[in-house]
Amino acid sequence: GSGRRTLVAGNWKMNLNHLEAIALTQKVAFDLKPAELEAVDVVVIPPFTDLRSVQTLIDGDKLKLAYGAQDLSAHASGAHTGDIAGSMLAKLGCSYVVVGHSERRADHHEDDATVAAKAKAAFAVGITPILCVGEVEAIRVAGTHVEHVLGQLAGSLAGITAEQATSIVIAYEPVWAIGTGRTASAQDAQDMCAAIRGKLADLYTGTIAAGIRVLYGGSVKAANAGELFTMPDIDGGLVGGASLLADDFVGIVRSSP
Ligand code: PEP
Repeated sequence: GSGRRTLVAGNWKMNLNHLEAIALTQKVAFDLKPAELEAVDVVVIPPFTDLRSVQTLIDGDKLKLAYGAQDLSAHASGAHTGDIAGSMLAKLGCSYVVVGHSERRADHHEDDATVAAKAKAAFAVGITPILCVGEVEAIRVAGTHVEHVLGQLAGSLAGITAEQATSIVIAYEPVWAIGTGRTASAQDAQDMCAAIRGKLADLYTGTIAAGIRVLYGGSVKAANAGELFTMPDIDGGLVGGASLLADDFVGIVRSSP
């Protein structure tokens, strides 16, 4: 809403080998009309092992898609076996990197300080973080979800400057809606995204907050994307399951206002 450019990002998670990645990226790029790709920022976020293939395809054919990674190391380089540095992602042409996804917060015990360090590492190499926050179901049931998510947001933005914040993307992803087929109602999602924007105004300025894109994620499908994306404080979506099939993902992009 409010003049911000819609962003639809497909988080493939730990799915698709490099051949499947090429096929999916090609189909998404060719099914969407040039005007549709002009109007929305469409991003694919494959596993690390697919990035080189996706890069070669997108660059070689000058496809109007952006791509990014699902995680990066907080460290710049060195003795961190199995990790991937931001500079490596930048060299591959990644525009975005997801930080603080709930699956990483849960599976890898990433806390807000780690997420903030990763966001800083992304900015250090000129990559835009898509910073994820969201409450688990027990917190929603207890009714403390807004303060919980705003706390996560402040902690995950610690040390991020106002200049950096102008280009960040925030994704509100209620954990109980991720991969479950249960979507937050458009109004509940809007309420949280508005609260997030209010917190961004407190942390930075109202002008900066008004320019930051806040996405909703959690069982977004073509059937619900239109309603979600037209809410005033929701600027697009972070899409998991429905980003793995070209028709579904294209349908979501087409639902963008
Ligand atoms: C996600 O992984 O960020 C996500 C929102 O997944 P899904 O769309 O499958 O709920």
